[in-house]
Amino acid sequence: MSKPKIVLLGAGYAGMMTTKRLMQKLSIEDAEIVLVNKHNYHYQTTWLHEVAAGTIDPNRARVMISDVINPNRVTIVEDTVEKIMPDQKKVALKNGELDYDYLVVGLGFEKATFGIPGMAEHALSIQSIDKSRYIRDHIEYQFSSYHNAENPKEELLTFIVGGSGFTGIEFVGELAEKIPELCKKYDVDRNKVRIVNIEAAPTILPGFDEDLVKYARRSLEDRGVEFKLGTMIKECKADGVIVGDDKEEIKAATIVWTGGVQANSILGESGFELTKGKVNVDSDLRAPGYEDVFILGDCAWVMNKESGRPYPPTAQIAIQEADVCAANIDALIKGTSLKEFTFDNKGTVASLGGRHAMGTIFEGKKLYGLSAKMMKHVIDDRYLFMLGGAGLVLKKGKFKPF
Ligand code: FAD
Ligand code: NAD
Repeated sequence: MSKPKIVLLGAGYAGMMTTKRLMQKLSIEDAEIVLVNKHNYHYQTTWLHEVAAGTIDPNRARVMISDVINPNRVTIVEDTVEKIMPDQKKVALKNGELDYDYLVVGLGFEKATFGIPGMAEHALSIQSIDKSRYIRDHIEYQFSSYHNAENPKEELLTFIVGGSGFTGIEFVGELAEKIPELCKKYDVDRNKVRIVNIEAAPTILPGFDEDLVKYARRSLEDRGVEFKLGTMIKECKADGVIVGDDKEEIKAATIVWTGGVQANSILGESGFELTKGKVNVDSDLRAPGYEDVFILGDCAWVMNKESGRPYPPTAQIAIQEADVCAANIDALIKGTSLKEFTFDNKGTVASLGGRHAMGTIFEGKKLYGLSAKMMKHVIDDRYLFMLGGAGLVLKKGKFKPF
């Protein structure tokens, strides 16, 4: 009998860590492993707000897949997934087709625009290395244009960020650090620049710890971030946004949408049933109705049985799902029983730019400022260590406190 073929789609946190775990569990005689990704590199999605603001180099936030996954053991396919055909056990790629015995879908997220007119067309989004590098270049271009124009428009220096979830807050934190540097470089008065973060809820980081929210808001306001809270963005135009019930227009040459995410649209297009944009997976992480398809990371909702609500999609949960997914594929191949996924929440730490950060660890212990920032770096470096050992930490890590 030929050995089973495991195909993994997407080399993000879920795809990379599942591949690593499968390599540890299965010998070359046990199974063939194929990893498909749009690019020949893996990127740290959790660092993309830094790439987008220009506070780190894009190359630091990515790793060649073949540097951390042995290509003699895993076939690495650089191609774009176009459709999954689960009933035929096949995947259509831009340049071919693959069949599989077991499929792992880790294709990540897309921006969710909730049908807001103009948002898909005019807003930028922090979604990949390419899109984040584009935001960085676009921001710098606004400074250059302002500096070189005879009668520059004020809105060239207005940067709107839509949504004050963790992505929006981490991004405005980086912008608060980067803007003074750009002002110096292009001889621009800092007082001319506006960073405006617009949030529909009455607070930033809705649902997060109140003390930490207060701290984050003060820290960001002290560094020049303006918040417009309780203000819904109703429309996005090429030159600004329309907000609130009175339809106020705020002119800006840069609009970055961080108002929400949904699963990669390939899932819906492939016929998987979606709940609020994602697949509600079974407790063993398989897609309902498919015994051979696992769906992980930002493509999946995993239910918290205690609260009856799904866990928020994070890198932390994607990495933990990888362990269970690999164990369950191993179990299916070896005919043993499958595991249920349970989430071990290690806390949430958010960067606020530069030396600033805040968050919770170990069942609610609160961290502020430099100690939170150092913890954030420990979390980032821990992942690099799991991915590529001490060598990768030394090459790309953030072991310095700032
Ligand atoms: P991803 O890591 O996004 O990987 C998806 C992969 O699929 C990518 O490699 C992509 O290139 C590939 N791909 C996509 N489409 C195709 C296709 N059609 N064909 C082939 N390949 C494709 N979570 C935390 O826990 N902590 C944090 O501090 C944190 N910070 C964040 C900061 C930012 C700015 C953002 C945007 C998110 C952050 N998150 C954080 C959330 C976290 O990044 C995601 O939950 C996590 O990346 C999900 O992992 P994933 O493997 O599902 O997808
Ligand atoms: P999110 O859905 O968490 O936040 C989006 C925000 O946009 C919400 O506060 C929402 O009220 C607001 N919003 C939506 N529509 C709006 C409108 N029309 N006008 C104004 N505001 C509007 O999305 P996110 O911040 O991208 O986070 C996605 C996931 O990634 C979450 O699970 C988050 O926890 C995770 N994440 C974690 C970290 C971290 O742990 N440090 C960092 C970034 C992201």
